[in-house]
Amino acid sequence: ATPAATMVGTTIGAQNGVLFKGGDILERAKDVDTVVFDKTGTLTEGAMELTDVVVLDDSGRPVTDGGEAATDGGQLTARDRLSEEDVLQLAATAESGSEHPLAQAIVEGAESRGIDIPDPDDFENVPGHGIRATVGDSAVLVGNRKLLRDNDIDPTPASETMERLENEGKTAMLVAYERELLGVVANADTVKESAKDAISQLHERGIDVMMITGDNERTAHAVAEQVGIPRENVRAEVLPEDKSDAVESIQDDGRRAMMVGDGVNDAPALAVAYVGTAIGSGTDVAIEAADVTLMRNDPVDVVKAIRISDATLSKVK
Ligand code: ADP
Ligand code: MG
Repeated sequence: ATPAATMVGTTIGAQNGVLFKGGDILERAKDVDTVVFDKTGTLTEGAMELTDVVVLDDSGRPVTDGGEAATDGGQLTARDRLSEEDVLQLAATAESGSEHPLAQAIVEGAESRGIDIPDPDDFENVPGHGIRATVGDSAVLVGNRKLLRDNDIDPTPASETMERLENEGKTAMLVAYERELLGVVANADTVKESAKDAISQLHERGIDVMMITGDNERTAHAVAEQVGIPRENVRAEVLPEDKSDAVESIQDDGRRAMMVGDGVNDAPALAVAYVGTAIGSGTDVAIEAADVTLMRNDPVDVVKAIRISDATLSKVK
């Protein structure tokens, strides 16, 4: 492309909140044949909210009538007297040192219900899986099935509860205390208003659309269905360090992928993609690693980026 065409394209982009890092990027965007979206914070608002707290009985069945509080100075007593507040307090205590959006939603949910949240005695993030904390002398886990299995606790008694919540598109997390599975908490996120429209416009242009997420299969499929991404194009339960491998394997058969993401986790994937696109409200690390930044945080601007590239460069050969 001529320098003039590049300048025009870059300027039109900037006026539309689409920042191309250079002329070569502007040129590349029109050749993208696959767009890979991160889920949380990219297709969804990324503003999680606590929606459910479920107390499980010894057999893993949900207890509908919670009963009176069973915490006494941080020490749990009779199992059958656990309330929803107890489960939520324990989860929030474990999560209070974490900056993960899921953790923050649990803590805020507990605070808004007037629950007192003591500091944990110790905690450790288990990336892609959850959190392991010490409260008093006891081990508390909050996270996915794998986190519990890795700590020798069987998550299967909670399957029905987990699946019900996940089918609603929620992220459900197991809460365990010592060796026992006590309950489930769930957070919901809302899909961005224009996500569905963005994806249908990409499809109209003949571009394949995929989704990558660390979230579980069921939640991922529920969200994919809402926005119109085909089931077989969903890569779920991808660990943070494996996101870039996932993009590379998508590109293995010669595809030219645009990866769109917002998180620290997404940065390596943005870097390996044919075009890396960061959401402007995302982390600095993601923006740094990306070739394009969408200032309005709007998935529809992905289409705009491709269209601007196409319009400014297809005329000039
Ligand atoms: P995403 O790619 O959606 O941002 P992550 O890779 O950070 O997700 O986490 C993947 C999964 O691990 C989450 O869906 C959740 O089940 C679990 N998880 C991660 N961090 C936490 C946490 N602090 N508390 C509870 N669960 C967590
Ligand atoms: Mg994200």
